[in-house]
Amino acid sequence: MNAIQIHETGGPEVLQLTELPIPVPGPGQVLIRIEAVGVNFIEIYFRTGQYKAALPMIPGSEAAGTVEELGPGVTGFAAGDAVASTSVLGSYAEYALVNAAQLVKVPDGLAPEQAAAAMLQGMTAHYLAYSTCPLKGGDTALVHAGAGGVGLLLTQIATRIGARVITTVSSPAKAELSREAGASDVILYTEQDFEAEVKCFTDGKGVDVVYDSVGKTTFEKSLNCLRPRGLLALFGASSGPVPLFDLIQLSGKGSLYITRPTLWHYIATRAELEWRAGDVLGWAAKGELKLRTEHLYPLAQAAQAQADLGARKTTGKILLEP
Ligand code: NDP
Repeated sequence: MNAIQIHETGGPEVLQLTELPIPVPGPGQVLIRIEAVGVNFIEIYFRTGQYKAALPMIPGSEAAGTVEELGPGVTGFAAGDAVASTSVLGSYAEYALVNAAQLVKVPDGLAPEQAAAAMLQGMTAHYLAYSTCPLKGGDTALVHAGAGGVGLLLTQIATRIGARVITTVSSPAKAELSREAGASDVILYTEQDFEAEVKCFTDGKGVDVVYDSVGKTTFEKSLNCLRPRGLLALFGASSGPVPLFDLIQLSGKGSLYITRPTLWHYIATRAELEWRAGDVLGWAAKGELKLRTEHLYPLAQAAQAQADLGARKTTGKILLEP
């Protein structure tokens, strides 16, 4: 099978197309034939060495496709089922293994590209809005990178709950997309001081929650955008990791909360996985969650896909087609 492999950390060029044997499912595992691979920012952290992994590795954890073969002891799935997962063991490939416990069925009518676009970023948006800081009608949230993969979905999910969403983006074209997703106010944070703008939009009160995936360049001002006892959910580091931080500052800035959540702890049980995947795939199938999927690359162009994601050239989801 064709697969992308990394033998050393580095720039996008370390993502090499390779011919490898199709893996054989072990106990509890399912072999899937991949039809759409979801590209996510975390793969850049692994490629550059910011996150550690054993090498060589096939990158990627998100894919949608069909069940090819069941390993010993697997029940609940059959060959030919349409499935998706965010826990694929190397999804930049034509075939891959997944533990059956982390695989879900895709509802009828949802194309593999849509399923792969909805799963990881959709369940992230879901846990941020429903669990990390359970939003309610009337809350105000600040979402950074509002036209990104997570940003567009989080804005839609937060607004369907009834929250007001203020976003930041880097260009007028991205601002337009963010508004279409439901943002009430959009700030061009590459030109405007987002802290001052947020204060202005909230009559000086600040927001209830900031969802910050940008990290280094936004972290400090994100704290300043919060109301007293507000929550900063720092869930990514697209601009780089935040510097060391003295917790006493949380007191001075209004008894604030910070959390650094990750999806894996919010889909750790089968019940939570089925809840979140069921919601986002179901909404996507009904057209209630709009997926932006026009960034489609052949598997062999994985390096270009990651380069574009890292260079802020993309909006919504990036997919690879094996
Ligand atoms: P995005 O589509 O959001 O792409 C990243 C965006 O970040 C860019 O488009 C850009 O938007 C913005 N950005 C700001 N500064 C930079 C910079 N210096 N370099 C690159 N991008 C920058 O990616 P994803 O939706 O895949 O992921 C968003 C973030 O969420 C990532 O940090 C990812 O690691 C994190 N994440 C965390 C999860 C978790 O559970 N903790 C799960 C999923 C994702 P703009 O041009 O508008 O500034």
